[in-house]
Amino acid sequence: MNAKKKFDHSNDLVFLPLGGTGEIGMNCYCYGVGPADDRSWLMVDLGVKFGEDTEPGIDVVLPDVGFIASDRRNLAGIVLTHAHEDHLGAVAWLWPQLQCPVYCSPFAAQILALKLKEAGLDDEVPVKVQALGSKFKVGPFDLEFVSVTHSIPEPSALLIKTKQGTVLHSGDWKIDRSPVLGRGMDEARLRQIGDAGVDVLVCDSTNVLREGHSPSEADVAATIERIVAEAKGRVAITTFASHVDRIATSVRAARAVGREVVVVGRAMRNTIEAARACGYLSDAGRFLDEEEFGYLPPDKILLLCTGSQGEPRAAIARIAEDQHPHVSLEPGDLLIFSSRTIPGNEKEVSRIQNNLARLDIDVITADDALVHSSGHPRQGELRELYSWLRPAALIPMHGEPRHLRAHANFARDCGIRDVLIPRDGHIFKLAPGPLRDVDEAPFGRLHVDGRLIVPVDDGPARQRRKLSFVGAVFVGVVLNAKQDLAADIDLITDGLPMGLEDDLREAAENAIGSSPKPRRKDRNQLAETIRVSVRRAADMAWGKKPVVKVSITQL
Ligand SMILES: [Zn+2]
Ligand SMILES: [Zn+2]
Repeated sequence: MNAKKKFDHSNDLVFLPLGGTGEIGMNCYCYGVGPADDRSWLMVDLGVKFGEDTEPGIDVVLPDVGFIASDRRNLAGIVLTHAHEDHLGAVAWLWPQLQCPVYCSPFAAQILALKLKEAGLDDEVPVKVQALGSKFKVGPFDLEFVSVTHSIPEPSALLIKTKQGTVLHSGDWKIDRSPVLGRGMDEARLRQIGDAGVDVLVCDSTNVLREGHSPSEADVAATIERIVAEAKGRVAITTFASHVDRIATSVRAARAVGREVVVVGRAMRNTIEAARACGYLSDAGRFLDEEEFGYLPPDKILLLCTGSQGEPRAAIARIAEDQHPHVSLEPGDLLIFSSRTIPGNEKEVSRIQNNLARLDIDVITADDALVHSSGHPRQGELRELYSWLRPAALIPMHGEPRHLRAHANFARDCGIRDVLIPRDGHIFKLAPGPLRDVDEAPFGRLHVDGRLIVPVDDGPARQRRKLSFVGAVFVGVVLNAKQDLAADIDLITDGLPMGLEDDLREAAENAIGSSPKPRRKDRNQLAETIRVSVRRAADMAWGKKPVVKVSITQL
């Protein structure tokens, strides 16, 4: 009994990341209080990650929230720190499993509403819109949105107070003292929170490998305004569709020299609509549709396009291939990549840049001029936040393992003594300190495949990946009542080099011929024998083993 008492964590405040610690994307962080078998949970963010080359046909990856869903009456709510896909994009997919209120800012609520509508959930999800800087209570958690600066409207850090301790969950942030839109970072409030005492800072790690301080949006704006003012032909700017500051900057640069703004791409039009519904871009004037592009002289146009990450169906990819139905660029025109290429998208982005080069169009990227600044803190900004908050302990989040490790080392170097590197699916005791890894919970990833959510491990993407390397062979066999072949073997290949069919058909015939007739009655056994020998024959002739499917029909 003593031993049980020793490990009784019923008074602990715990932290369970289900995504976001070990990858950039798929953010999903849970905070829990109460006894281990009856904890109240708060979920902070519920985002997606984009599928990789190794996951063919998978556009979106979700965190597996089955552990929380299995006890959903104990989930008090989901709080969204901001409207980026990696923080909000999974809500419409996973809410049916979780069925709890969702708390977010007015702008995030606008973005979320579009997604819920697409999913047919707009009347079902209780979305509780919280004003910026407001305090609210969710179950046993006393919460407060604290405004920060980032690369989308209305980003907040979240102050989480419980009987057991106080956590500042940073969300995504940078220190921008001259943002283009919004109320800026609430430095005064963060200092007050630090004065009152912070047990744990759970903090963005994305840019910890970079020294110094990120440039401000105002510096980016000045550069873009200068480039647009000097341009002679058409100017196109591509950026993240959700980057309202950058949209505002582009509009200002256009208006300053009498250019009309043409928006190309649905995602960006949606963002503009959501932003206007919240009072942003109210002085931006009219945005023209792509159909109006053809009526304007080159020096009167500024195009705002989606597709800065090389997405093949997005506006800029189609314009660069000269395949867009309404918009085309010509020699002497200019494209600004006002973005950073997210690791993994380099090939797609360089394909677009090569296509633009073929069209003799000038391209300016962040390597050439200050046309982009990241929304995440570099070391100088992290140091500043630590000095305001003076947390007793720190947990790095929002990073790949290398970012988390570097952030942990950096925080220790800055004098924070209690630092722990988290892992998805581990439960960490935050308070009372010190930080400790106390338990594990089931976790994982789910694939969005078309309209369905499917498992990753034995799901369709794995089989598709295999097919993409080796192709497939389909073998159709018809046997009569005496177990003899009643017709020629039907053999179809897909994704194999030409000329292998005869060898493969012969291998299938031999496999049947060498099986004693009584054993041919066991269809599964016979199919397996055929499959193995067709694969072996392919390997002999070709050096690769295709996927082989055998179907046997009995007359
Ligand atoms: Zn973000
Ligand atoms: Zn993020």
